[in-house]
Amino acid sequence: MKAIDGKKIASDIVDELTVSTASIQGPKPCIAFVRVGEDPASVSYVRGKNRTAEKIGITPILCAFENSISQETLNAKIDALNADPSVNGILVQSPLPSHLDEQSAFNRIDPTKDVDGFHVVNAGRVVQEDANGFVSCTPAGIIEICQREGISLEGKHVVVIGRSLIVGKTFALLAMQNGPQANATVTVCHSRTRNLKEITRQADILVAAIGRPEMVTGDMIKDGAIVIDVGINRVGDASKKKGYKLVGDVNFAEAEPIASRITPVPGGVGPMTVAMLMKNTVKAYELQNQK
Ligand code: NDP
Repeated sequence: MKAIDGKKIASDIVDELTVSTASIQGPKPCIAFVRVGEDPASVSYVRGKNRTAEKIGITPILCAFENSISQETLNAKIDALNADPSVNGILVQSPLPSHLDEQSAFNRIDPTKDVDGFHVVNAGRVVQEDANGFVSCTPAGIIEICQREGISLEGKHVVVIGRSLIVGKTFALLAMQNGPQANATVTVCHSRTRNLKEITRQADILVAAIGRPEMVTGDMIKDGAIVIDVGINRVGDASKKKGYKLVGDVNFAEAEPIASRITPVPGGVGPMTVAMLMKNTVKAYELQNQK
């Protein structure tokens, strides 16, 4: 099938984790969600992660704070979670309100509990190709999709549009690693890239992580390329109950006839992010409980 069913792959991972968690004697893995304010997208993301954790048998803890919380109070909460041996993973839901320093909050988390993989130590471990670290969930999810769909990156020209730590940069680093599910030749594009179309048309695998609805059009894609659409954009749609629909960074209708494989939005990369978060939480539990 041409469209890659990320929902099904994520559901398989959830099932696998449910089986492995069921065999744990004693306290189950535990993840703490730190949420600041009531941003509707953040509330909904944390609710979804909470639900998946419960389904797997991972104990979720929700630490919700008012929008006005100070950096000191946030830091103190993260310190308390770091010191609590019953908490294996900590996630600070992004975005934080603008008066808070997000990267400093991520770097406050004990790296061994940093299941989102945003701590400087874990980012460094990706660079050093150290498998004991935690890889940011969305890029890890793309690698997992490729692995499970039999898509080899070896020797391929992978073009990534976007250079954020959360997605583009980390995926580029993973794809260029010297090892299985990697060994790609990688080009990274961003808002200052000249002649974007000329570059994207060379991609065997095109990864779009831009945050601009349907920016990648059919004429930017090489015949037979594999297209991974990371974008999640809300665009107004009066025919929907919520008043909006979700679209990716790729114009799916134009790309689908040209691409050999493509991830849809929704139902492609999105569900993988939560599944990989849960995988990281179980990994954190295992590493912390190694004799
Ligand atoms: P950021 O805003 O952090 O990064 C966007 C990147 O796109 C930047 O590097 C920016 O360049 C680049 N860019 C912006 N405009 C252009 C342009 N016209 N041409 C080329 N490059 C451009 O976003 P994120 O990486 O956090 O997220 C990207 C998308 O992925 C969003 O839609 C987000 O919602 C989605 N997302 C989905 C997830 C999932 O679970 N599926 C998880 C995380 C994100 P520059 O650096 O020069 O500004």
